Amino acid sequence: LASLNLFQSGDHRRALQDAAHAEPLGLYLHIPFCVDRCTYCSFITTREDRLKPVVLDRLERDLRAWGEFLGHPEIDTLYLGGGTPSVLSADELLRLSEAVQASFRTSGLREATLEANPGNLDSDWLMAARGCGWARLSLGVQTLDDELLEELGRIHSSTQALEAFEAAQHAGFERISADLMVGVPGQCLDGVLEDAERLIQAGAEHLSIYLLDLDKNCPMKARVASGRLVLPSDDEVADVFEALQSGLPRMGLEPYEISNYAVPGQESIHNTRYWERRPYLGLGPSAASQLGKWRWTEGSAIQAWAEGTAPIEREELGPAESLAEIPLLGLRMHHGVDWTDLRLRAEELGLLGLLRTWERELEPFVLNGLLEAEGRRLRLTNRGRLLSNAVLQVFV
Ligand code: SF4
Repeated sequence: LASLNLFQSGDHRRALQDAAHAEPLGLYLHIPFCVDRCTYCSFITTREDRLKPVVLDRLERDLRAWGEFLGHPEIDTLYLGGGTPSVLSADELLRLSEAVQASFRTSGLREATLEANPGNLDSDWLMAARGCGWARLSLGVQTLDDELLEELGRIHSSTQALEAFEAAQHAGFERISADLMVGVPGQCLDGVLEDAERLIQAGAEHLSIYLLDLDKNCPMKARVASGRLVLPSDDEVADVFEALQSGLPRMGLEPYEISNYAVPGQESIHNTRYWERRPYLGLGPSAASQLGKWRWTEGSAIQAWAEGTAPIEREELGPAESLAEIPLLGLRMHHGVDWTDLRLRAEELGLLGLLRTWERELEPFVLNGLLEAEGRRLRLTNRGRLLSNAVLQVFV
């Protein structure tokens, strides 16, 4: 199988196995199918149902092959993302869940999340998913304004979004997260706060806040370019983020990462592993993995991926890159980075010079109130979180 072929030498295999058994892994599976394409979307996904059997077949084979190759290591988080995992039938979901259990040790599983679109789930499907062991649901809601939902090309209404919470709770999902989008043309500040409040009342104990991103080609980008749609200004968007920073804690959700808020104790364990640089294996088109000193990304052309011919990008992280990723990702977390530990790590790697350069470059951000030191830790302030790109640029 294609991604396994990158690691066929005995040394590589042993290094990967050692890394996979040093601590439990996170496992991500990408389901690249959607009922329809949203107008802003540039994710790896397709509406071509005919590809579903071959993609699922390939996913199952990859699961078994990787499980075998790594010596059936333990996973403690599992995440089914997309695309839209709720396009899978209950049977397909069961087959995939069984392949995970047959390939990895799951007795210590702490979290199993699946993403779902409120427009294509029903009670039976939710019950079946819960029965396969999925216990946390991430609903792609984006907004509860029906006009905006239509502009975004979402396949669901606000009513369906709220009904999805009810059905999910009825099926036994106790942990429900929702995505909320900011920066949508025509969206107003009060509307975002109101949406957040309604989602929390409906049962969301976790919110992921996304900024509408039109970097890549998509129908909405063309409408903006032709002047038919007007994006909110940077200042207007910053106002919304600021209002959420102060409003969400009043509604019971605390920030734990730049874009993520949760009732304390309900933070996403799987996503936190990315920011803490803990190992993960990603399977499916465009899925990324990080294990040992390697990081690789599966090919994104869906059919070619299923046939094992899509090119895979692999990089070997050097000591300086690995060190830089600790603050680059860690500062995204609300509690920031243990700078004393980082200094010790830099010393071990002979990179104290690099650390001092960062400290010099970070000094102005501390003086301007974007960063603050608290005990051993360095973290972004509320204002720093709004301007995080400028700060994080230091480590790139
Ligand atoms: S549901 Fe998500 S992945 Fe699917 S088209 Fe919409 S934004 Fe893209």
